Amino acid sequence: MHAPTPDSRHELAALTRGLKHAVQRAGNRGQRRARTGVTSTPSDPGVTPEAPTPENTPGPQASSPPEQVASPLPTSASEFPDLPSLREAVARCRACDLCQTRNQTVFLDGKGTAGVLFIGEAPGQNEDEQGVPFVGRAGSLLTDIIEKGMGLKRSEVAIANVLKCRPPGNRDPEVVEKAACTPWLERQIELLDPKVVVALGRHAAGYLLDSDASLGQMRGRVRDWKDRKLVVTYHPAFLLRSPSFKRDCWQDIQLAMGVLQQGE
Ligand code: URA
Repeated sequence: MHAPTPDSRHELAALTRGLKHAVQRAGNRGQRRARTGVTSTPSDPGVTPEAPTPENTPGPQASSPPEQVASPLPTSASEFPDLPSLREAVARCRACDLCQTRNQTVFLDGKGTAGVLFIGEAPGQNEDEQGVPFVGRAGSLLTDIIEKGMGLKRSEVAIANVLKCRPPGNRDPEVVEKAACTPWLERQIELLDPKVVVALGRHAAGYLLDSDASLGQMRGRVRDWKDRKLVVTYHPAFLLRSPSFKRDCWQDIQLAMGVLQQGE
């Protein structure tokens, strides 16, 4: 048996903290459900991952160079004073197993000057290759929503994901991965300070609202959320498969635009 290294002890401690947090959140949800009698619907429209194929499932990186500096812990995210330093820390993160299969981390696109932050689920294959969120087909639809629908430039909004690394085969993010990764997202939100956050799909919405309600139950209104506003809508990948939901998405986007127009 190898003696644990300081790095592996740190990772273990981070994962333990993350798991405790996730178990607590799951417990809170269970208690809320018991109080309200609300149960989740198994047919929630979320993002059905592409079936894993040899083409879209990268193998483990053949020979990653040894880390020169200790990997930063997501739980230290609040110590990073600005987005460039946070981006650099995320790029070195090894807090969960996704670091072994990623090509690169996917941190953020856009400056967020328009006051809106879109949050998706996790990078897919294209994003993992390019290091930019929402650049595949779902990304083109999101760009249309922003540019043709909202009349903004994509570079004026901010776009991030719950997870910064691609889950192999585009499977759903696991609880332990979300628990490990989300301190990075929380610091991104603080630093970007958007007027309105738009959660895309049930993974982002479920995480941000700490809820396993269906997307249909969560969308359709502006919520007060952590001193800012939150709007939930369908994930663009879901809209590509189910275009009849685009009308509901457009209603949600108009709610977000209303928030941006307030106090202009
Ligand atoms: N789906 C997501 O949720 N995020 C991306 O960046 C791309 C696709």
